[in-house]
Amino acid sequence: MTDVSAERGLAVELSDLTRVYGEVRALDGLTLRLEPGELVCLLGPSGCGKTTALRILAGLDHPTSGTVSVGGKDLTRVPANKRDMGMVFQAYSLFPHMTVIDNVAFGLKLRGRSGASRRTRAGDMLDLVGLGQHADRYAHQLSGGQQQRVALARALAIEPSVLLLDEPLSALDAKVRVQLRDEIRRVQIEVGTTTLFVTHDQEEALAVADRVGVMNAGRLEQLAPPAELYSSPASQFVGEFVGLSNRIPAEVQGGSATVLGQAVPVLAGSGTGSGHALVRPEALSVVADESGHATVTTVQFLGPLSRVTCTLVDGTDVVAQLASSEALRLEPGLRVRLEVAPSPVLVVA
Ligand code: ADP
Ligand code: MG
Repeated sequence: MTDVSAERGLAVELSDLTRVYGEVRALDGLTLRLEPGELVCLLGPSGCGKTTALRILAGLDHPTSGTVSVGGKDLTRVPANKRDMGMVFQAYSLFPHMTVIDNVAFGLKLRGRSGASRRTRAGDMLDLVGLGQHADRYAHQLSGGQQQRVALARALAIEPSVLLLDEPLSALDAKVRVQLRDEIRRVQIEVGTTTLFVTHDQEEALAVADRVGVMNAGRLEQLAPPAELYSSPASQFVGEFVGLSNRIPAEVQGGSATVLGQAVPVLAGSGTGSGHALVRPEALSVVADESGHATVTTVQFLGPLSRVTCTLVDGTDVVAQLASSEALRLEPGLRVRLEVAPSPVLVVA
């Protein structure tokens, strides 16, 4: 293993950041702390303020109010070139007239490192991302995925205190995207740099992050490890944005909801009285039952899993996801009963 970093990462704190552009509040009180060495994904729909948050952390933009600190030092008024951050954007950011190794060494040159030590360091970084053999190529001789690995090597070469990635995979095709996200995570764990990774792709965020921060309209709705975010959404926005959920009529009383005639525990943040439970498709099972409350409308085969849509007597469509072996006897028109797993649900209006 290459010795790429003597020290582990630094804590990053964004405190009550706002950023107003004319009428638009791009950030509206964003508070977020990254632990040393942690990879946090900011996840949210287009326009929710992800890039603005990242640019303010980098010093490329300035908050209307609020502060940024790294390793306990207030950087709010420190210019970008004194902040010591490595950045990777969407594809095509390499300098086309420089070789791969010169691209990677570029930041070291700016920092006055000698030619020999630059080359050694840049070579180590290329080995780290698996491109040591391609040092003398130019960007146009590399695939999109390879170019992004070079961009990652370039960002890490300066031993940044923080690594910032803004949708680094969104220009790549699906298969490369999955390979490269795993590669980014492997490298990030190896170097231990505190990392903020911005994406609108929930699968990507859940796959690579220590914690995922879901943003909505310039604020953080929830910050939690991926499994917790999925199983215990704190708000309707998170429950509906992350993963698929059915909205099934529910009645809440004393910490428990009645959903499809069954008692299910409720998550904190749920309303009381009548509402709708957000129920994951895999929390439902479908049982043939002549006196059941639903009818199968479609059965979609997805390989190991099948997705079965059923219509309740009140007309609500509900999707269940089952092992395909369990969906074999289900077909459109069949009368069924839906059983709800006893995992806690969020009940919203
Ligand atoms: P995201 O990266 O989540 O898609 P952005 O941070 O780029 O969102 O943008 C958040 C909001 O701020 C959007 O409504 C966007 O149009 C607005 N915005 C971003 N940058 C500017 C700017 N320089 N001038 C005016 N509005 C901006
Ligand atoms: Mg953006």
